[in-house]
Amino acid sequence: MTLVDAFHRNIDYLRISVTDRCNLRCLYCVPQGELIKLKHQDILRYEEILRIARIAISLGIKKIRITGGEPLVRKGIISLIESISALSGLQDISITTNGVLLLENLKRLWNAGIRRLNISLDTMKREKYRHITGSDKFDAVWTSIEKAADMGFDPIKINIVAMKNVNDDEIEDFGSLSMTKPYHIRFIEYMPIGTKPSRLRPEYIPSVEIKKRLEALGELEAISRSALDGPAERYRFEGAKGEIGLISPMTNHFCKACNRLRLTAAGSLRPCLLSSREIDIRGPLRNGATDAELVEIFRKAVMMKPSSHGMLHEKSELFPGEMSSIGG
Ligand code: SAM
Repeated sequence: MTLVDAFHRNIDYLRISVTDRCNLRCLYCVPQGELIKLKHQDILRYEEILRIARIAISLGIKKIRITGGEPLVRKGIISLIESISALSGLQDISITTNGVLLLENLKRLWNAGIRRLNISLDTMKREKYRHITGSDKFDAVWTSIEKAADMGFDPIKINIVAMKNVNDDEIEDFGSLSMTKPYHIRFIEYMPIGTKPSRLRPEYIPSVEIKKRLEALGELEAISRSALDGPAERYRFEGAKGEIGLISPMTNHFCKACNRLRLTAAGSLRPCLLSSREIDIRGPLRNGATDAELVEIFRKAVMMKPSSHGMLHEKSELFPGEMSSIGG
């Protein structure tokens, strides 16, 4: 079975947000004022996530990413990953983390079948890291990145939200890092997302500008795309150990090729990060829905997927939902 939407896109990638809680307070992610947390009973339980994952895989989902909030703050998360990893038919499981709790979890993540890591790190400067995230955890994150590389995790993708006047002075430094280390350095255009403005609403830096600045360091050769690739345009400096990825949700949206569906921490299926459309799966599941009924909810969610998010054309400045509960 496959999940095909109204625009003939094959949906085979599910991102699961396992919590809306996070141990960092990134200025550009957390909204102003009080962060309203989901109630414990409103968050999907592990056995519910596992059942949804199993149904998703039976419908042709091949790749699952565990995200949040910060997935590593949820107790017992590694056991959930182990269980999902063991589901037959799944080709790829990965995690997106801020890396703060990664070091102590690396071994168990490896044993649970994780090989691919996405780690968010917007700056290489300790003081700036503290300013952006509200925590003095740069060293903890950096140590876990190096340890993960030693252990053989591959690829290790470092996600940088590129923001004017925040970290644009580090574009070349991150570019150089890809030459000496085997990391995939990925620059993501900042998106004005959230129901309430975040404390910092920076300007995004267009990927073309980032590429131009990187090209001053040396020639960038394009890397051809492989089956499990996401939306990044991939490049490598000659002889580099790592690579560069440019992700351009603002200037070159990749909606035409979007193969994603999201499961929010509160148990809704969300077909587009940047649209408020979502459908509740937690309610039916808790009310005794059969697998066939849950399959129908998946099909409905996929049919609700918009053709594109039109981020640059919409009148509204803010896009619906908090990153922390939808999962980036
Ligand atoms: N806590 C995990 C982490 O930090 O990677 C996973 C959740 S976090 C919401 C997922 C990703 O979304 C991070 O790489 C974060 O930098 C990114 N993100 C958050 N707000 C963003 C925004 N407004 N525009 C672009 N990316 C954003």
